[in-house]
Amino acid sequence: MNGRIANLHTVFVLDGGLCVRCNGCGKRNVLTAQQVGAHMGNMTQVRDLRLVCSACGSRDIDRCVAPSRDAAARFMDGVDIQSAVAV
Ligand SMILES: [Zn+2]
Repeated sequence: MNGRIANLHTVFVLDGGLCVRCNGCGKRNVLTAQQVGAHMGNMTQVRDLRLVCSACGSRDIDRCVAPSRDAAARFMDGVDIQSAVAV
């Protein structure tokens, strides 16, 4: 993600979703643009989103914008979050 500003506008435009991984229990999910309230011009930083793990309640959540739906699928298959989203 070097050089790319990860905000909700990016999530909306790339349409791959937001990959999230809980550091408490390891649960993974891909949130859709709609789920995180992403829309054109929404410059809210991804790192500023308040995310809570639905499985364990942890707030320690890694998050990364997927550049494509394929990348999001690789992430869900267990690929490391940074590798999954490498362009
Ligand atoms: Zn968790």
